[in-house]
Amino acid sequence: MSDSQSWIDRGLTHVAATYGRYPMVPISGQGSWLTDVDGKQYLDFLAGVAVNNLGHCHPKVVAAIQEQAGKLLHCSNFYHIPQQIELAELLCENSFGDRVFFCNSGAEANETAIKLVRKYSFENHGTERNEVITANASFHGRTLAGISATGQDKVKEGFAPLLPGFKHVPFGDFEALRAAVGPNTCAIMLEPVQGEGGVNVTPAGYLQSVRELCDANQLLLIFDEVQVGCGRTGSLFAYQQEGVEPDVMTLAKALAGGPPIGAMVAREKYAVALGPGTHGSTFGGNPLMATAALTAMRVYLEDGVLDNCIAMGNYLRNQLEELREKYDFIVEVRGRGLILGMELNIEGGEMVKTALNRGLLINCTVGKVLRFVPPLTVNKEEIDQMLKILSGIFDEYQEKTDD
Ligand SMILES: *Cc1c(COP(=O)(O)O)cnc(C)c1O
Repeated sequence: MSDSQSWIDRGLTHVAATYGRYPMVPISGQGSWLTDVDGKQYLDFLAGVAVNNLGHCHPKVVAAIQEQAGKLLHCSNFYHIPQQIELAELLCENSFGDRVFFCNSGAEANETAIKLVRKYSFENHGTERNEVITANASFHGRTLAGISATGQDKVKEGFAPLLPGFKHVPFGDFEALRAAVGPNTCAIMLEPVQGEGGVNVTPAGYLQSVRELCDANQLLLIFDEVQVGCGRTGSLFAYQQEGVEPDVMTLAKALAGGPPIGAMVAREKYAVALGPGTHGSTFGGNPLMATAALTAMRVYLEDGVLDNCIAMGNYLRNQLEELREKYDFIVEVRGRGLILGMELNIEGGEMVKTALNRGLLINCTVGKVLRFVPPLTVNKEEIDQMLKILSGIFDEYQEKTDD
């Protein structure tokens, strides 16, 4: 029995069965590559689901963690934490924000954002005004508030009663959104590009119209940039692509280039609603994770990562478009920077499994959309290698269906 198989058997015994895991046991990684326990190498175009934006084990992030680990791992948020302060300063200098709350995940960042808009609205507009509008096919995390906000039924089934106060509208449909705003609406929460929902990009001008709708009705605008922030679309934050600023933004996934940290960034006017004692997190912004994030953020800003994302994003997109012209089961290629989706008119799950066997990690969302979210440090040779494996799989599928 291979080492992989024995880990897989044990993994299926005592670890919670919440994930439909692929039969692969990674134990080390470097750049765009993962190595499993049997020594097999994989080209990683999933990157921990848009977490390893700097590739696996970026040397600067690893060194910063190693150094900090010998100094101080954890201390309470009862005290001032220098690394957290520097990280907050860096995030605010490079965004619309004035204040940052630190937590440990995307779901917690969204919980914080939802608590903030409710509290601000409670203090300024009374108790009834507490409804948040989100989009169909959105994804906002797996906590109860997260699944209540999420616009997909499959994450909610069996977990009722959910949190009241959410309304869902079709993504990218401005008229539907305007019609949904009522006297009790306090905020609109959107992913500027939907990740889990199938790599959906808003139509041109949509976010600007949403901003104006919010301003006209004194609504807060929340952008969930947990997946598309931190350089993924080619700018540090996705909203910068369209020049439409939110009031609140949530971050997590790639913020520390691998290690877990989440953040909610808000304008001062709204951030004051969460005063002392209103919210907290034991681990949020601890010295170790804040150091990792501070280092990763500096790499995003200073080491040409965003330029590489744009260049490689354009290259990969053009190549995927060429595949679309060649294979009639490909419906559309879409996305921004290095979050690209390829919609098929067939189920993509089997192709993902075949790719894994051939040493390529990709994934498939909403059944039919292959999602490509490689490290932003990926190079042209790696993209070409990925395309070779992918077109091999496509050729075989085409031949099978031609018979
Ligand atoms: C992944 C994701 C989340 C949830 O983040 P967790 O860290 O898994 O809690 C929330 N929103 C979006 C857009 C995401 O992609």
